[in-house]
Amino acid sequence: MTTSNSRAAGLLHLRDRALKRGDPVPLPLTMASIYLSPGDSSDTIEYGRFGNPTWHAVEDMLGHLEGAPCIAFPSGMAAIAATFFALLKAGERMLLPADGYHTTRAVAERLKAFGVDFDTRPTAGFLDGGFAGYRLVFVETPANPGLDICDITAAADAIHAAGGLFIVDNTTMTPLGQRPLDLGADIVVAADTKAPNGHSDALFGHVASRDPEIIEAVRKWRVTAGSIPSPFDAWLVHRGLETLDMRFERMCNTAELIAPRLKAHRAVRSLRYPGLPEDPSHNLARVQMERFGFLISFVLDSEEKAERFIDGCALMHSATSFGGVHTTAERRDKRGDAVPGGFVRLAVGCEPAEELWKAIEESLDRL
Ligand SMILES: *Cc1c(COP(=O)(O)O)cnc(C)c1O
Repeated sequence: MTTSNSRAAGLLHLRDRALKRGDPVPLPLTMASIYLSPGDSSDTIEYGRFGNPTWHAVEDMLGHLEGAPCIAFPSGMAAIAATFFALLKAGERMLLPADGYHTTRAVAERLKAFGVDFDTRPTAGFLDGGFAGYRLVFVETPANPGLDICDITAAADAIHAAGGLFIVDNTTMTPLGQRPLDLGADIVVAADTKAPNGHSDALFGHVASRDPEIIEAVRKWRVTAGSIPSPFDAWLVHRGLETLDMRFERMCNTAELIAPRLKAHRAVRSLRYPGLPEDPSHNLARVQMERFGFLISFVLDSEEKAERFIDGCALMHSATSFGGVHTTAERRDKRGDAVPGGFVRLAVGCEPAEELWKAIEESLDRL
C-alpha cells in the first residue's frame, strides 16, 4: 500500500508523462461545450456534458489519492445525490447517520416520493442493530459536527454479510487523512468544496469506487442528469489539490496543539477532538485515521457567548463550511443540527499555530 507521503509526492507529477516539449507545465483551463468530432467520434469528448479535460485532470488527481476511479461533481451534495439516484430503486431502504451532514438526510427525505425509505442511527454505536434489509448504508466519520466515529472495517464486514453497499462520506478527513476504500467501504463520497479546494471559492465533489459497475452507474447518472462541474471550478480545485498535503498537515498539527489548551480553558465544556487521548473516538481514530483532522467541537455556556467568542476572535471568521485557509467557526444549531445553542464547530485554518491560539485565548478570556 502506498503511504500518504508517496501519494502526495506523486500527485504533483501526475501529468508529467503526457507532457510534450512546449506544453504548459501547469494545467490549462479548457472552457468548451463542443469539440471537433468528425466521423466516428466515440473516442473523443464530443460535448461538454460528456467530459472536459480540466475535470478529467482533477479526477486523475482525486483517483490517485483515493486509489480508485473517481467521478467529479459540481458539489458534495451532487456527488451524494448521484450515488442515491444511480444505485437505489423503489422498495429499497437506506440507513443514514442521525448526526451527520443534515442535507444528506434531506435528499433521502425527497427520495421517499420515489419509494425509497430510510432510517437513521447515531454514529457512536452505528453497528448496534445490524444491517439486515438495507440496500445502502451511509456513514460519515468523523461525523460532522459532533465528531463521533464509526469503525469502518467492522461496519464494512457486517454490511457486506447482510448484502448491502457501504458508502463513506470522507469530507472531514480528505483522502490524505483517511482511506475508507482500503478499510472495506464500497464507495467514498466527499465535498471537495472543503479542504481539497481549500480556498473557500468553489464548490466541488466526487464519488470514488473500485467497483466498475458502480462507477459506470454514477458516470451514466452524471451524463444524463447533467450534474456536471464547471471547468473553471475544476481548475480551481486542481490548483487547491496541489497544496492539500501542506495545508492539511498544518491544519491538523495546529488542531492537535490547540485542542488540549481549549479543553483546559474555564469557558469551554464538552470538547470533542479525536486526537485527545481521553476522547471517546481516540482509540478507533488511531487505528483507522492517518491524522486526527482539523475540526474541533465544544460548547460554550450560551448562544450569546458562542457568538461573542467567534465574532471577538481576531483570526476567525463566523462562517459555515470548513477546510479553507482561514479559520472559521459556527454555532451549529443555526443550521438545524441537534446540538445545544452554545455548540461551536471550530475549523482550524492555516494561520501560524501560536498566533491563532493567542487570538482564540484572548477572545475566550473576554467572555
Ligand atoms: C459540506 C459537506 C457536504 C456537502 O458538500 P457541498 O459541496 O456543500 O454540497 C457533504 N458532507 C459533508 C460531511 C460536508 O461537510
